[in-house]
Amino acid sequence: TTQRNIAVERTFLAIKPDGVQRSLVGEIIRRFEAKGFTLVGMKFMKVSRELAEQHYGVHRERPFFQGLVEFITSGPVVAMVWEGDGVIASARKMIGATNPLTAEPGTIRGDYGVNIGRNIIHGSDAPETAQQEVSLWFKEEELASWEPSLTPWIK
Ligand code: ADP
Ligand code: MG
Repeated sequence: TTQRNIAVERTFLAIKPDGVQRSLVGEIIRRFEAKGFTLVGMKFMKVSRELAEQHYGVHRERPFFQGLVEFITSGPVVAMVWEGDGVIASARKMIGATNPLTAEPGTIRGDYGVNIGRNIIHGSDAPETAQQEVSLWFKEEELASWEPSLTPWIK
């Protein structure tokens, strides 16, 4: 059997208010589960203005910033932490390009969105931001590492 990496990679994903409103929560979680990543934290929550501004702080000077904060605080989101080898880059690939109009079919944004301001899901873009976002949104005791299966899929 293969030894599982002890310091497995983690990323922060959030289904935005439009994804919740459009009933895509189950479909989105299904995709990451089916891919083989492991859910280690999840909460359904209204986002405070303070948290939204911190989370999107890098975009503070952009013209869309206020609208983005308004939108992300406008309804509940599903905040999640997923774990697995290569999960940060892989999740970004599964999410697709920022603009759903140009995102590839087969990606979440490519399959379900048409508006850059309503692009359904957030995913951390690099190891440093993943670490920052996981600790911004979750306390350590809200995360549960677990072993999905000790049996290899194919022996
Ligand atoms: P990503 O979410 O793909 O990492 P960015 O970090 O560039 O994209 O932007 C963060 C979020 O800001 C996007 O997901 C989108 O919701 C919003 N956004 C980005 N660019 C625009 C834009 N030109 N107009 C409106 N909203 C935008
Ligand atoms: Mg980004």
